[in-house]
Amino acid sequence: MFPSAQKSTAIITDQFQRPLHDLRISVIDRCNFRCNYCMPEEEYPRHYNFLKKNEWLSFEEILRLVRLFASLGVEKIRLTGGEPLLRPNLSELIEKLSKISGIDDLSLTTNGSLLKEHASALKNAGLHRLTVSLDTLDEKTFQKMNGGKASVNEILKGIEAAEKAGFDSIKINSVIQRGVNDHDILDLVKYFKGTGHIIRFIEYMDVGNCNHWDLKDVVPSKEIIALINKHFPLKPAESNYYGEVASRYLFVDGTGEVGFISSVTQPFCGTCTRARLSTDGKFYTCLFASEGKNLRVPLRSGASDEELFNLIKDVWSKRVDKYSENRYLFRSLKEKSHKVEMFQIGG
Ligand code: SAM
Ligand code: SF4
Ligand code: SF4
Repeated sequence: MFPSAQKSTAIITDQFQRPLHDLRISVIDRCNFRCNYCMPEEEYPRHYNFLKKNEWLSFEEILRLVRLFASLGVEKIRLTGGEPLLRPNLSELIEKLSKISGIDDLSLTTNGSLLKEHASALKNAGLHRLTVSLDTLDEKTFQKMNGGKASVNEILKGIEAAEKAGFDSIKINSVIQRGVNDHDILDLVKYFKGTGHIIRFIEYMDVGNCNHWDLKDVVPSKEIIALINKHFPLKPAESNYYGEVASRYLFVDGTGEVGFISSVTQPFCGTCTRARLSTDGKFYTCLFASEGKNLRVPLRSGASDEELFNLIKDVWSKRVDKYSENRYLFRSLKEKSHKVEMFQIGG
């Protein structure tokens, strides 16, 4: 599908020749939702000991690191969390990020609950693209999945506000869990079909340590594709770019597209070009990693740009992560080992 497995602009590659191309930044580890698959309420009650403000990377520190990452080949930045819209003055960061040379794609993933009030500011600050997570249109199921923190209507209003602010082709992320929200797949498809927005069904993953993941709760993308295809015929489409995580399908009737992120049943580690930066400045090379390289310590103890550049380069060039391709081996070997939580490094 791609002329070459390696992007020509890449400055560094890892041990499997994968370039460093994307950086996901968790701008805050807190969240106003308690999704059962990410941050279940019983594990993360309201007064959980989240990072203190002085532990967060400052905007200046984030900007400095992004400039260095850009010089190593990063072209895409995604802001995430926790819930990124809880980070005070986020638009100021976006405005500055949008001006960094080499960054040609700046996006944000949000649960949508605060979008109504923030959508125009995000657009005006220069955010290119938006992803909104919405797992179901069924109110009862939604409440059950997010810990009773918001209604479907609030999220739909947020999406509407984003449209009005000028965001088009919004991606809608839906994590499907068997017996929880799989009954609502077709309603989600019907709702977003023809709107220009792109719904993407995500296989439920074993991220972090507290969602009690079980393979039997995963609905394989193949099953979802077959279901949708029966009601709304689909045809596969080519990837837009090297390393795209979602497999794309178009509705045969020309009313748009739908995506599938099949990290469990069809892992895509071979083309994974994504690095992650946690709120407290740790650099992770895989969503399922246990450890990240602490960049905040050198940042705050006077390291030069060259030293930081070399640190990042060194970590990426030694990277051997392929967790999803070897999930069952890792799960048995690392049964008791601690993985980073998704809200600390972002999805
Ligand atoms: N709070 C924001 C949100 O929910 O969109 C951004 C952070 S959230 C960690 C990023 C994405 O990760 C969301 O789309 C969420 O649905 C997805 N996610 C979280 N836990 C997951 C899991 N166990 N399996 C698959 N996707 C997951
Ligand atoms: Fe919060 Fe997003 Fe995790 Fe849900 S998926 S708990 S909205 S960080
Ligand atoms: Fe990338 Fe790790 Fe996910 Fe594989 S498991 S696609 S290496 S983040």
